[in-house]
Amino acid sequence: MSQCPHYKKCGGCQLQNMTYEKQLSFKQVKIIRLLGRFCHVDEIIGMDEPFHYRNKVQAAFGMKNGKMISGVYQSSTHNIVPVDDCLIEDEVADRIIVTIRKLATSFKMKPFNDVTMKGFLRHVLVKRGFLSGQVMVVLVTASGAFPSQRSFINALLGKHPEITTIVRNINDKHTSLVLGERSETLFGSGYIEEQLCGMTFRISPKSFYQINPKQTEVLYNTAMEFAGLTGSERVIDAYCGTGTIGLIMSKNAGEVIGVELNKDAVKDAKNNAALNNVSNIQFFCGDAGRFMVEMAEMGEKADVVMTDPPRAGCSLDFLKSVVKLSPKRVVYVSCNPETLARDLGFLTRKGYKAVKIQPVDMFPFTEHVETVVLLSKLKSPQHIEVELKTDELDLTSAESKATYDEIKAYVKEHAGLTVSSLNIAQVKQKYGIIERENYNKAKSKNSRQPKCPKEKEEAIVEAMKFFKMI
Ligand code: SAH
Repeated sequence: MSQCPHYKKCGGCQLQNMTYEKQLSFKQVKIIRLLGRFCHVDEIIGMDEPFHYRNKVQAAFGMKNGKMISGVYQSSTHNIVPVDDCLIEDEVADRIIVTIRKLATSFKMKPFNDVTMKGFLRHVLVKRGFLSGQVMVVLVTASGAFPSQRSFINALLGKHPEITTIVRNINDKHTSLVLGERSETLFGSGYIEEQLCGMTFRISPKSFYQINPKQTEVLYNTAMEFAGLTGSERVIDAYCGTGTIGLIMSKNAGEVIGVELNKDAVKDAKNNAALNNVSNIQFFCGDAGRFMVEMAEMGEKADVVMTDPPRAGCSLDFLKSVVKLSPKRVVYVSCNPETLARDLGFLTRKGYKAVKIQPVDMFPFTEHVETVVLLSKLKSPQHIEVELKTDELDLTSAESKATYDEIKAYVKEHAGLTVSSLNIAQVKQKYGIIERENYNKAKSKNSRQPKCPKEKEEAIVEAMKFFKMI
């Protein structure tokens, strides 16, 4: 039973009908299914209090039965589901939005209608610093004069003295984007500041900031621990956003290089470095893949590559260049376990081994899950060395038919045998299902290269037949 009256219509929380414990085990199982073949998956870190964690709340405005409503768009539609309080949103932000709706009604301000393109108030966006207590309200409106602007702002501040800044953003376009190009500060500084892992970050209306501050600290601390910094390392923070992870790592690193595509985020990152007096960090604006290719072409090296890409995962160019830059450790933070599995597949065929996988529940009640993975470069003689070929992100169709875990599970069930990934790889190679060089070519004299025992081979062949791979 869902605790939320909006559950069916809103669509924001896909797992509302599960207890929190169930949600965590659902996510844990998902990660094991997708990533369990790489290494042991640690237990997901959930929240003690999984409610009202969202520090950024936005509402759309419209009319229903002659009354102004505010809420969220029903998924894939432009119908507004009226929501006054939400289980996962910040409660202060929700109360401010209700006040704005009441004020707008009494000021006879019309909501913007994106079909007729008439009206004024389009969205409200509230961001709150949970630690700093600072609150930013962004009123997204059509262009034109703001009716009774001064009295409106004073009335809002009178009801909510906790608001530290108010910004008007103008969006006249026929677009599903919330924010338009132009902004104007109506009260305060136009941004808020927030503390994270002992540092201060500036958050402006458009800048990206993780939406669950408590779990962000958990996530970043995990990434930090995995990076194993001792003070001298050269760290690359790829897909760095406003520089948060890199800045936090800079305290324990020799040098940090951040790269990010969004130029506003890079600007914020540079400001954040100055705000925290960090001088051993540089930020570059551009595609992370291209940047890494250039670094690799220049023969540059890195000790640790930290990567936190969007849902699409890292580009192939990026991954190939990581291998060339040859860091001892790669720390991969991912919001999409599917693309993470694909990218780990590549890196583990190219001389890296996943040694730690830590899921973190950043988004309770939703299906999303964040994962931090530590990959370490193989180099000791008992490990199998790798040839660097560069064309391997796509699996062959035969390989894609069953994962190693599925084959292992089948063999266990039908032959009672425990087989390793190496055993499977050897059999795959024997049957012409191209297996990557790392499993079968031992280059070093001391490499251990055990042969797959006959009975295991037969059992694996049975499994591969069952999965129609041969
Ligand atoms: N590490 C940051 C941001 C992660 S979100 C944090 O924790 O806050 C992913 C970031 O990747 C976004 O800021 C997005 O703008 C950026 N991005 C997307 N495509 C990119 C690309 N091709 N090259 C570099 N950065 C990219």
